[in-house]
Amino acid sequence: MTNAIETPKEKQNRHKAMEAIKLLNTLREDFKSPLRSMEYFYKLFEDVHCHQKALHEDKTKIGTMCIQIPSEIIYALDGVPIRLCNGFYTDDEIGGDLLPQKACPLVKATVGHFASGNFSDMPDIVFSPTTCDQKTKAGAVIESFGYKIFDVDFPRTKESEASREYWRRSVKQFAVELSKFQGKKLTRSNLENSIKKIGYAQSLYHKLSDFRKLDVVPILGIDVFLVTNAFFFDKIDNWIEAMQNLLKELEQRVQNKINVAGKISPRIVYTGSPPIFPNFKIPQLIEESDAIIVADETCSSNRMFNDMVAVDEWNLYDMMDSISDKYLKACTCPIFTKNEDRIRRVIQLVKAYKADGVVYQAFAGCTVYEMEQRSVLEAMEKEGIPILYLESDYSPSQGGQLSTRIEAFMESLKTRRRNKK
Ligand code: SF4
Ligand code: SF4
Repeated sequence: MTNAIETPKEKQNRHKAMEAIKLLNTLREDFKSPLRSMEYFYKLFEDVHCHQKALHEDKTKIGTMCIQIPSEIIYALDGVPIRLCNGFYTDDEIGGDLLPQKACPLVKATVGHFASGNFSDMPDIVFSPTTCDQKTKAGAVIESFGYKIFDVDFPRTKESEASREYWRRSVKQFAVELSKFQGKKLTRSNLENSIKKIGYAQSLYHKLSDFRKLDVVPILGIDVFLVTNAFFFDKIDNWIEAMQNLLKELEQRVQNKINVAGKISPRIVYTGSPPIFPNFKIPQLIEESDAIIVADETCSSNRMFNDMVAVDEWNLYDMMDSISDKYLKACTCPIFTKNEDRIRRVIQLVKAYKADGVVYQAFAGCTVYEMEQRSVLEAMEKEGIPILYLESDYSPSQGGQLSTRIEAFMESLKTRRRNKK
C-alpha cells in the first residue's frame, strides 16, 4: 500500500522496486524449466534494487561509467568496481528532465540515478572514460551534482600505434589517480592476483557459453544477461561461487536433455545497445516469441568476458600494457571511426553458435549505433544472415509494436529452417 507521506526519494525507490520485481517475477515464473541456481542472481537483484541492500559497506566503491575502465587495476588497489550503466525507466525519466529528451536512455538513466542519489552502494569516486559523446558529457553533468569524477581519455580509432600509446598513457594515469585516492601502491603481486581472479571469472563465462553452442540449449539468453549484469556490482567471490553452481546444474541438464527452447526455436545472436537490468525488454520479447538467444555482442555481456588479458612477462610494466591492449582491442563499441571488428565478431558468433539470425538493437538517441546499422546490415546480407534492426527506448509502452515485428521475424526464420530440411 502507498504511504501517504511518501518522500520523492521513497517514491522513486518504490517505482524502481516495481520495475525490478516485475522482471524478476517473469524470469522466475513465466519461462519453462527455471534453473534452481539462478535464484542466487534473482535474489541479488531483489536485495539491491527492492531492499536497497548495500553489498560493499567495508570497501571503497569505485564507480565506472562504461566497460572501458579496467577492473583489474581497481581490485589490485583494494577497491570494488561498480559499473553505473543504468537500465531503469524511473531514472530515465529523472534524467530526461536534465538532458535533451532525445538523448540515449542509458545515459539519461545513469544521470537520473546520480541526480536522485538513490544508491545502495554510493560510489566514492567515479571514473568516466571519454567513449561516446553522450557518456563524455554526462560525466560533466554528474560532476555538477557534487560527485567526484575523473575523466579517462579514450581514443576514437584503434588501428594505429598512436592510439594504442595514447590509451596506454590514459590507463597509467587512471592507475596513478586511483592509487593516490586509495593511498595504496600498485604492486606486481596485487596486480597479478587481480588479473588472475578476473581471468578465472572470465573462464567460467566461457564454460557457460559452451553450453549455449549445444543443439539442446539448457539456459535462456535473458538469464545469461542477468548473470553478466550481476558482475557489474556483485562481490566477485560470491559471483564466482554462484557461477560454479550454475555450471554444475547446466551439466546435469545437458545429461537430462532439458531444453529451455522449443524444437524449432530460432537461435539468435543479439547485438547493439546493451541490455542493462531491468531493461531486458527486447531479449524478453525475443524469448517470449519462441526464440532463444544463444550469444550476444554487447558491452553488458559477451564483451566484458570474451577477451582475456594476455601477459607475457609478469612484471608491472608488461601487465599494465597487456591490460590496456585488452581493453582497447576488445572494444567493439561503435564509437570508433571504423569498426570492422564488430562485424567480424557478429559473423563469427553466428557461425560458432549455429544461429539462424541476428537481432540488432539501437537505443533511440544513440547516434553511433543507429549510424552503424547500415554497415552491419550490408555485411549480414552479403553473408546471407537474416537480421532484424530495432530501435527501442526504456518506455514500457512500446511493447506491442516491437513484439509484432519480432514475432514476424521469428516466423520467417522458422519457415527458412523448415525449407532447409
Ligand atoms: S555502449 Fe559503448 S560507450 Fe556505452 S557503455 Fe557500452 S562500451 Fe561504453
Ligand atoms: S548506447 Fe550509444 S549513446 Fe548510449 S552509452 Fe552506448 S554508445 Fe553511448
